[in-house]
Amino acid sequence: MDEHYIKIGSVEKLLQSLQDPGAVILCGGTDLVVKMRQGLLSAKTLLDISDLDQLREIRQERGCIEIGAAVTFSQIIEEAIIGEQIPILAMGLRKLGSTQIRNRGTIGGNLVNASPAADSAIPLLLLDAEVIIADPTGERRVQLEDFLCGPGKTILKQGEFLSGIRVPIPDPEFLPFFHKVGRRKALTIAIASLGALLRMKDGVMDEIRVAAGSVAPVPLRLHRVETMLVGRRLTPQLIKQAQKIVPQCISPMTDLRATADYRYQVISDLLARLLLTVPN
Ligand SMILES: Cc1cc2nc3c(=O)[nH]c(=O)nc-3n(C[C@H](O)[C@H](O)[C@H](O)COP(=O)(O)OP(=O)(O)OC[C@H]3O[C@@H](n4cnc5c(N)ncnc54)[C@H](O)[C@@H]3O)c2cc1C
Repeated sequence: MDEHYIKIGSVEKLLQSLQDPGAVILCGGTDLVVKMRQGLLSAKTLLDISDLDQLREIRQERGCIEIGAAVTFSQIIEEAIIGEQIPILAMGLRKLGSTQIRNRGTIGGNLVNASPAADSAIPLLLLDAEVIIADPTGERRVQLEDFLCGPGKTILKQGEFLSGIRVPIPDPEFLPFFHKVGRRKALTIAIASLGALLRMKDGVMDEIRVAAGSVAPVPLRLHRVETMLVGRRLTPQLIKQAQKIVPQCISPMTDLRATADYRYQVISDLLARLLLTVPN
């Protein structure tokens, strides 16, 4: 099928073009073009938003950092305020793909593609990020946790697009942790990944957020693990108890890359590794 290609120059034009049910947004193309080549997706019109200035900004305002949906991973990693205020995001994105993929791939594309292995989702879930959804009537904000519905599925409706991500700046005392296990060290899709933000106070776990990828239909927070750890002193027994809760939080599947059993084991081991390295 021959697609039409439109280089979008304004948000107004994008919203107008999205009224056509055969129109599909193209940003970095690192997922979309692959799917089109594999015959998994077809489009009547491709709406290229990669040069839309409004979606390419990173700005700080009132305790939050807003990242435009068309900002590339390389831009985020290199941006000073990201490294200073939300280092967990740069930490996770450095493990994503290769230099070429990080130069082209965007944070909006990664979230809308909604892979269970989406690397940007782990730090963003830990940061309690919201996505900003635009439609012809304006914008609305939704927690990222509520945006992702399943593999390749989000709550985005026809005529809507993702305009950005809003990240509340966390307490600088939070310690970041991100670990991705793949079949090789570089350019690998996660078999399983675990991230955390945590803060100790007087030897007690004052706050902890834990999120995992590739072990459920969507990347997700391990809320039960968080609840059982908070307010407790970290002991070998507590770490074992936390590991026992992991299977209640995830539902991994067996696929070409790994078995479900292996994924349960990896998340449990990564959780222990994280908790054993926490300075008291
Ligand atoms: C070799 C290779 C390695 C990779 N490695 C990794 C990896 O390690 N970790 C990982 O997480 N991903 C990886 N990816 C996947 C990919 O790079 C990311 O998902 C990327 O972030 C997608 O962004 P994009 O701008 O290229 O999106 P596109 O391919 O342009 O679009 C992806 C989807 O999102 C939609 N879309 C894009 N932007 C918007 C928007 N603003 N509003 C609404 N819809 C939108 C498109 O219509 C399409 O359905 C890899 C891909 C390749 C090819």
